[in-house]
Amino acid sequence: MQFTDLGLRAELLRAIADQGYDTPTPIQAQAIPVVLEGRDLMAAAQTGTGKTAGFTLPILQRLASADALSLQKFKPRALILVPTRELAVQVHESVRTYGKHLKLKSVAIFGGVGIGPQIHTLRAGVDIIVATPGRLLDHINQRSVNLSGIEVLVLDEADRMLDMGFINDIRKILALVPKKKQSLLFSATFSDDIRALATGLLREPVSVEVARRNAPAEAVAQSVYHVDRDRKKELLVQLINDHNWHQVLVFTRTKHGADALSERLGKAGIKSAALHGNKSQGQRQRALEDFKRLKVNVLVATDIAARGIDIDELPHVVNYELPHVSEDYVHRIGRTGRAGSSGAAVSLVCVDEHRLLRDIERMLKKEIEKRVVPGFEPDPRIKPEPIQTGRGARGGAPRSSAPAGGRGAPRAKPGGGKPARGNASTGKGAGHHSGARHH
Ligand code: AMP
Repeated sequence: MQFTDLGLRAELLRAIADQGYDTPTPIQAQAIPVVLEGRDLMAAAQTGTGKTAGFTLPILQRLASADALSLQKFKPRALILVPTRELAVQVHESVRTYGKHLKLKSVAIFGGVGIGPQIHTLRAGVDIIVATPGRLLDHINQRSVNLSGIEVLVLDEADRMLDMGFINDIRKILALVPKKKQSLLFSATFSDDIRALATGLLREPVSVEVARRNAPAEAVAQSVYHVDRDRKKELLVQLINDHNWHQVLVFTRTKHGADALSERLGKAGIKSAALHGNKSQGQRQRALEDFKRLKVNVLVATDIAARGIDIDELPHVVNYELPHVSEDYVHRIGRTGRAGSSGAAVSLVCVDEHRLLRDIERMLKKEIEKRVVPGFEPDPRIKPEPIQTGRGARGGAPRSSAPAGGRGAPRAKPGGGKPARGNASTGKGAGHHSGARHH
């Protein structure tokens, strides 16, 4: 199948061709006709599958059709809710990329940047809003946005939004959009909570499901290096140097851990940057750009910060610490080998993490290859210690005004960790105009 078979209008086909794409990915081939028909959609799809264009393209098509245009001149007509700032930026970028030959206006609404420019853009009139729930509610409270004209609603990465404690915010927003509308729900996983949300929201939805492009078992070579807790930094430096890894995404459990590791790598002469919720939007974007351009070779990130980073063909992912939630492991290693290329995922595992490793292997239904680097053999006398959670990174709600825990603490996870405290990351960057207009 080609994009030209999907019945998309010429302006969209031109924008797709500008991107150099001709064949829709499986999720696009399945989702686009459903959305064009006006049906509700429940899609099981992860980052890396091309899901974003799977909803932005048909939404742009629907909004661009002439009769619809005359209905709602000044109110936003499509609302796309996403869990993180990074994803808001990326989804908005997709809207702009594919909508560049259309006259629709769009804005990205997220916290951590000045609200003023967003208000300005909203007041001037937009057709499409891409938003994180917290900041959108701020706008609702300030009456800078009116959702009564919404025709299409998307919940993107719905599982993440629930994990991050956004359910109450989502419910408040759902109460403000018209009952009669088209709703699309995208989620990597389908827990009971997601199903409950879907049941309340979707009407006779069409379900589509695609395997991730890079099913971990196939495209990503996974290995575990057993090492003592206190020697992980040293081992990582050695692995990077020995194998000449030039673009490595390293996951730590905590923001503090990300900073400390990045600093240590720097001292070892390895160019590195940390990416987490305490960094301003500007700092994060710079770190990401530098990493993409190989000005820094190692990006040390927390799960939340790394979510939605779109870097094609990332060759190496390192779990400096295993995640508490096994599914996060799959998300993490899904950063490598995207778009069909192969990648390698390496986990440094100390005695504290054996249980987490067992959980992950149980979920994968296979054992991961184990390695020991000579000179780094684990000392059998070292006893396991409880893992420090420092889980602020998970509660990375992008709103600064929320009282601690005020948005409902993210749910407790298996693995023995304490539930996260609701310390919303409050990166208050300088005023940053996130609005964009299409001409
Ligand atoms: P997503 O899953 O939406 O985050 O997209 C993952 C990556 O796939 C992005 O870099 C897209 O630009 C890319 N992509 C989306 N659609 C296609 C396509 N039809 N052909 C090739 N690459 C695509």
